Amino acid sequence: MKTLGRIRREYRTMQAMVKIYCAGNHESATQQPCPDCEEFLAYASQRLSKCPYGEEKPTCANCPIHCYKRARREQAKNIMRYAGPRMPLRHPWLSLRHSLDSFRRVAHPLEWRNKNNKNNNL
Ligand SMILES: [Zn+2]
Repeated sequence: MKTLGRIRREYRTMQAMVKIYCAGNHESATQQPCPDCEEFLAYASQRLSKCPYGEEKPTCANCPIHCYKRARREQAKNIMRYAGPRMPLRHPWLSLRHSLDSFRRVAHPLEWRNKNNKNNNL
């Protein structure tokens, strides 16, 4: 996986949120997320690495492509709902960057592809 700045930051934001969520909701003996949450992170990272927007990526909440399968999307929603309001306290910088990123708007996938027609793997 070629890690790009934005994608990597998105992943770190996700990771921070999962940790907050897991610590508050699941029994985990260590500082690490439980196996379920680890699995979710692995899935999220796989989706992120395949995001066709790359550096142009909006935050996942604003993305016109719904790349998560249904069950994972539910899981993501629960995590965001719990961890979202707690993020500014624990990770002020990440969360500031994330809200700046969320002003980013992208074209619809089809428009976007026409503009960037070198990329055909949507
Ligand atoms: Zn967990």
